[in-house]
Amino acid sequence: MENRKIIHVDMDAFYASVEQRDQPELKGKPVVVGGSPQGRGVVAAASYEARSFGIRSAMSAYQAVRLCPQAVFIRPRFQAYKEVSIQIREIFHQYADLVEPLSLDEAYLDVTNNKKDLPSATWVAQAIRKQIYETTQLTASAGVAPNKFLAKVASDINKPNGLYVITPDEAVGFVAKLPIGRFHGIGKATEARMHQLGIRHGSDLRELSLTELLQHFGKIGSFYYHIVRGLDPRPVRTDYIRKSVSSEETYRSDLRAQHEMEDEIKRLSHEVSARLQRSRAWGKTVSLKVRYPDFTTVTRSISASDHHQEPDWLAAHALALLSQTDATTKGVRLLGIGVSNLLFEDDSSSGIQLWLPFDLPNN
Ligand SMILES: [Mg+2]
Repeated sequence: MENRKIIHVDMDAFYASVEQRDQPELKGKPVVVGGSPQGRGVVAAASYEARSFGIRSAMSAYQAVRLCPQAVFIRPRFQAYKEVSIQIREIFHQYADLVEPLSLDEAYLDVTNNKKDLPSATWVAQAIRKQIYETTQLTASAGVAPNKFLAKVASDINKPNGLYVITPDEAVGFVAKLPIGRFHGIGKATEARMHQLGIRHGSDLRELSLTELLQHFGKIGSFYYHIVRGLDPRPVRTDYIRKSVSSEETYRSDLRAQHEMEDEIKRLSHEVSARLQRSRAWGKTVSLKVRYPDFTTVTRSISASDHHQEPDWLAAHALALLSQTDATTKGVRLLGIGVSNLLFEDDSSSGIQLWLPFDLPNN
């Protein structure tokens, strides 16, 4: 399994770079793409100039403007980003059949066998970066490694416009030195938890047995166990991209009381919100699915003008949608809440991948 050659390609400050390319007067200036600083919008992407003021994706636009009042705020132009996305995907497919897009600007490629018979995966990565630049006038960074986890970490190392290679021999030593905060899939809360346990680097994490990791962190513990040993068996899955996040529940006995339905909607909203936060995504459209006791199912949805991920926002919309159904008169057998029209934080949309179940190697 670990004789694979995986490349992770990631465009640099993608949305902001497209804006700077299309409006040359923005080159060299702090550019923030996202919601309006007057509203409750968030930063979806910041140019490197804006980042030097401390502006980061996921921050509120209001906070961003306080850090850098001279920043240029731009609403996202998804059509423009999608066009570039199609161009780079076409380039990926010239080199590999196994291409897994993670968002508009990021993908894994399995180039164990590359379609152009280039002599090495490093060569393939450089050829792809060059071709992306020639085609789009935008830069990309890439990581080359024996698996997805390492390739993803590697693409960040020489960003922007850089390449980093981790060979199979280097994998274990590389992860040993890696600070816990740099592990994709380890969020702030887990990082704090690990620090409390005295775990600061991959080498510390490696001291824990599989049983201990499962005790401390639940199911995801087995993922940690394997990645610190340089192992990540997840295959590159062709053309997979997350378009929505949802959660639903079928009830053993039908819900009849309105307050029960409302409590459930609030609970599901928290669940969906947590998933959005883990994948650093915001959604614009909320859907509510209701199955009545007679098994007929209705779906209602509503779109907001801005992207959100907060549980209260989700619950408020879902409750409004509930009143457009016959739930309170007919009763409810199933409730589901979904969020679509997703906007991913520019360069970390793949967090969610780590939370999907996968088969563990036999060791
Ligand atoms: Mg990116």
